[in-house]
Amino acid sequence: MSRSWMAYGKCAGKSTRDFFPSTGLGVEKARKVCQECLVQEACLNYALSNRIRYGVWGGRSERERRRLLRRSAA
Ligand code: SF4
Repeated sequence: MSRSWMAYGKCAGKSTRDFFPSTGLGVEKARKVCQECLVQEACLNYALSNRIRYGVWGGRSERERRRLLRRSAA
């Protein structure tokens, strides 16, 4: 899967740490950036396809992505 969308991410240039939060508050902060991102869908699909376990991707937390994967497997 191509990663060309990454160059257009709203998080480009921001601290990577902000997207690998350790608290719920940190997740919300990252999610707000993702909500304004033009490549949110591509980002989420990439994370799901590659089974990326950690961080906020496509506006979804680790727990939310696990839930989506479980639902798609059912
Ligand atoms: S959806 Fe969020 S994590 Fe993904 S590229 Fe956009 S800002 Fe970055």
